Amino acid sequence: MSTNETKLENTKLWIFDADDTLWESGLYFRRAEEDFTALMTSLGFDPEETRSEIHIRDIERLSVTGYGARPYMATLKLILKEKVTHLTPYMLASIDYISNSLLHHPLVLLPGVLDSLSRLHSAGKRMFVYTMGEKDHQIDKFNRSGISQYFEHCTVVALKTNETMIELLATAGVTPAEACMIGNSPRSDINPAIGCGVNAVYVQRPHTWLAEQTKFAEPGLVTTVAGLPDILPLAGVI
Ligand SMILES: [Mg+2]
Repeated sequence: MSTNETKLENTKLWIFDADDTLWESGLYFRRAEEDFTALMTSLGFDPEETRSEIHIRDIERLSVTGYGARPYMATLKLILKEKVTHLTPYMLASIDYISNSLLHHPLVLLPGVLDSLSRLHSAGKRMFVYTMGEKDHQIDKFNRSGISQYFEHCTVVALKTNETMIELLATAGVTPAEACMIGNSPRSDINPAIGCGVNAVYVQRPHTWLAEQTKFAEPGLVTTVAGLPDILPLAGVI
């Protein structure tokens, strides 16, 4: 067992990212992108150029609009408006359908999540959800997830930073060394956690959004796992 893993045995608070750590999320953004690209293709625009434009604009708007489904859809609408002078009812209806599908996407838990959380909860582990985006959308997903009973708290922030992590620790009444952050994003979950002395477990996921991919600030402080069930031995739950 590595030094990091030994430290995790003393964890008093387990903090879970939600999107693409507990449940599917990026999948529905990729579907919205594909639907939008199909719409633009139907209007005569090149699909590869549309995808490329979405990616560029998506990164640009993050610092302005923050994370979330509505800001993402606002970007797609803006691209459409810039490309097409007169929007027809067909185009507006299509955008509305894409938007509604994204905002009300099915809540699908990732493999092993339900069982892992149930066992951690039965073992008396304290658990928080810590997610970013728009509060009403994230809380709606939390309420629909069927796993809310395992968590003491669900915190939603516009952006995960060292400061928001410190506030969360104060809410829970634990020190950084007593907490462990679990998430799929190096940029939003792992680096802000280790930045303030919180242990971190990186859950590898395919297709992690481009904006979330970055190097770990301190690779030696991060334990990498393939899925949520791998948390159980780290937490001393057999
Ligand atoms: Mg995530």
